[in-house]
Amino acid sequence: MSSTQPDCLRVRGARVHNLRGVDADVPLRSLVGIAGVSGSGKSSLALGVLYAEGSRRYIEALSTYTRRRMAQAPRAAVDSVEHVPAALALRQRPGVPGVRSTFGTSSELLNVLRLMFSRLASHVCPNGHRVPPTIDVAAEVAFACPVCGEQVHPPGAEDLSFNSTGACPRCQGIGVVRTVDDAALVPDPSKTLEGGAVVPWRMFGFNVQPDIAREFGVRTDVPWSELTDAEREIVLDGPEEKKHITVTSKKGVHDLDFTFRNARLTVTEELKRADTDKRLARVGRFLREGTCPDCRGSRLSPAARAPRIGERNLAEVTAMTLDDVLAWVPGVAGTLPADMRDMARSLAGTLVEMARRLVELGLGYLALDRAGATLSTGERQRAQLARAVRNRTTGVLYVLDEPSIGLHPANVDGLLGVMRDLLADGNSVVFVDHDVQILREADWLIQRGPVDDALAETAAAAACAAALSGVFAPPADQAP
Ligand SMILES: [Zn+2]
Ligand SMILES: [Zn+2]
Repeated sequence: MSSTQPDCLRVRGARVHNLRGVDADVPLRSLVGIAGVSGSGKSSLALGVLYAEGSRRYIEALSTYTRRRMAQAPRAAVDSVEHVPAALALRQRPGVPGVRSTFGTSSELLNVLRLMFSRLASHVCPNGHRVPPTIDVAAEVAFACPVCGEQVHPPGAEDLSFNSTGACPRCQGIGVVRTVDDAALVPDPSKTLEGGAVVPWRMFGFNVQPDIAREFGVRTDVPWSELTDAEREIVLDGPEEKKHITVTSKKGVHDLDFTFRNARLTVTEELKRADTDKRLARVGRFLREGTCPDCRGSRLSPAARAPRIGERNLAEVTAMTLDDVLAWVPGVAGTLPADMRDMARSLAGTLVEMARRLVELGLGYLALDRAGATLSTGERQRAQLARAVRNRTTGVLYVLDEPSIGLHPANVDGLLGVMRDLLADGNSVVFVDHDVQILREADWLIQRGPVDDALAETAAAAACAAALSGVFAPPADQAP
């Protein structure tokens, strides 16, 4: 890079949220901490100005075509911001991931495990014989079953993905199913069928169903609690048979053929047709969510669960914690034929290297199949951070919102290590935090409001203790 490369990101006259015409010079390619009491505007500066302008200008530089497909950030209220790199924010509250995201998918570790179970596993032939691992599988060549001679086409990594062809057919790869809650169908057993005991019949406009049930021999004028099991079974699960009934309406008496729709079917059919949130909520009160009985929550189809490495299948390995997977994976090569061990060691090495930052950030206790939506905000932010380091970007401004939240003190070094890695690749890191242990490690401090005593003796703070009222930015010649 030439010597004219800017050293600072210059903000002039920022008036975002509670900032009142703030000026700041934020050193680039450094670790910059922003400290200050609540309400001092540190998040406004970091996210409202630095991140907002960095991401907005990056998006503006893209083609119109691409831009139309992205959410546009509004222009920040600021006189000028110069030399702002493309910015990525790793927020304290990252968006909640979808139902198809797990710790294993978002960390990308599952990609490596799928490759291992595709290439290194013992597979099952079409006639159900278990075939020991061979180099043919590793080379993606079809081979003949040694027992029956049938061709075996081992699954590719994609076939082991619950977001693709490896999904459990019952739950479509989300691990949970919604079943009809019988207790919700008839919440008041003292009511008769004629008196509206079956709530979904009433709610979804199937008012002639009690008349049809009567044709099946069900008593419709006694309380639900007094019906026999056989009668209840017809109401809940009876066949879709046509019955001839007489209906009285304003226009007179009609003889009509009606098809019986039992109470459970009324709900499942309504669920299929529910195309709005409102309709979904109406039918949702009759449904109960539970672990999928077919895949037992593993999200995988029987075929995707068939390959085994040692005694374990993919579902069993992803149910392990990251720490346990890392303890298991180095032993895999030793269980395989000699000609497969190099590939096994290489895949194991990739997995261990990808996992290193996650462990240093204290996430080794998480199971790989843990649903993304159930991770805490701090866990999600740290998983994002580990991914950012792996992507090896350069020239990006990373804005971190309270990265120490929920972090065990033992993992502060891991967090600092990740931030140092981002800097080493030529990125800039700005973080907002309260944690003195982390703020002390910053190359530069921007202090909003009074200086914290615990920070006053740090080199970065001492250099600029004068700038109490505004944003604190040390001159370049005092850089550490
Ligand atoms: Zn066979
Ligand atoms: Zn399932």
